[in-house]
Amino acid sequence: MADKRDYYEVLGLQKGASDDEIKKAYRKLSKKYHPDINKEPDAEEKFKEISEAYEILSDPQKRAAYDQYGHAGTDPNYGGGYGGFGGNYGGFSGGGSFGGFEDIFESFFGGGGGRSVDPNAPRQGADLQYAVNLKFEEAIFGVEKTVKYNREEMCHTCGGNGAKPGTQPVTCSKCHGAGTINVERQTPLGRMMSRQTCDVCHGTGKEIKEPCPTCHGSGHEKKAHEVKVTVPAGVEDGQQMRLQNQGEAGENGGPYGDLYVVFRVEESDIFDRDGAEIYYELPLNFVQAALGDEINVPTVHGEVKLKVPAGTQTGTNFRLRGKGAPKLRGTGNGDQHVKVKLITPKNLNEEQKQALRQFAEVSGTKLTEQQSEGFFDKMKDAFGGKKK
Ligand SMILES: [Zn+2]
Ligand SMILES: [Zn+2]
Repeated sequence: MADKRDYYEVLGLQKGASDDEIKKAYRKLSKKYHPDINKEPDAEEKFKEISEAYEILSDPQKRAAYDQYGHAGTDPNYGGGYGGFGGNYGGFSGGGSFGGFEDIFESFFGGGGGRSVDPNAPRQGADLQYAVNLKFEEAIFGVEKTVKYNREEMCHTCGGNGAKPGTQPVTCSKCHGAGTINVERQTPLGRMMSRQTCDVCHGTGKEIKEPCPTCHGSGHEKKAHEVKVTVPAGVEDGQQMRLQNQGEAGENGGPYGDLYVVFRVEESDIFDRDGAEIYYELPLNFVQAALGDEINVPTVHGEVKLKVPAGTQTGTNFRLRGKGAPKLRGTGNGDQHVKVKLITPKNLNEEQKQALRQFAEVSGTKLTEQQSEGFFDKMKDAFGGKKK
């Protein structure tokens, strides 16, 4: 290791170079010395050196260790991966650790680099979302709902492998199971190898010689599906519930995705709700408010008698304990809050007006002439002129 070159020197940089400078230098040099382009005998060696320098200097932790301790601070034989290239890439399988292959390919071809995920690994299917509309009361008391939707299911004929029953998928003849192939391209820099998804197996690494007649090889089939949803008492608008494995079928034997049921709760004409608390506005005429009364108040649990004491003011709040919605998390119900709203009578008939004027008189309220118009005349009539 003693003759190892300084990593900064390898990339043509000074110690303290910025991340951006490191990246640029690496891209430039790795293009220049990439063994697919550069056929000089030492190109591969140089390329390895550049890659190793970049791997250390592009990692803040390793770079810090290197800055402090030099090559002793970084273990060149640490177990890094090959950035997904694995054994497919001949000539690069020995020693050292490489990163950034995909980086190069992406910078050359704008994406389309290799996939580092095993195409044959089981993968969970997609999640689905379904909105369930609930009436105000259904959300409070809970309800059973059946939701129906179409989803991709595992093909019932082939069990998901896409092959005609009695046959099996075989290893892809073109990519030998890798799922990707290396393609030679002409670029301004010379001949380049690029990696593409195998066009025969579309990345699966398997070839289906005789496709399943039901799914034509996809392993999935669209099917109408229904699930019973037990909506718990006390759900609120916008809340959601996850139903495991009710989403779409997975790939390569992976599990189904999940279904997210989102609740849309209708508003009530009578009540407002905030969590387990329910709010109700009680219209009260001033006579009831003044004299006190016992009133039947609607709640979601049925009518409840509420004693309104004499002299109740508008805006007064009463609490009906336990008459709210069930607590979704926890036990028991919230409360119903009753807020008094005094209603001023409208369109009074003459008799009612007289009674009010009389009330004003006895309570010492001075009415203007207009308000009391005709009052004294009528009083005279009513009481046979005994009053002045
Ligand atoms: Zn099938
Ligand atoms: Zn293939």
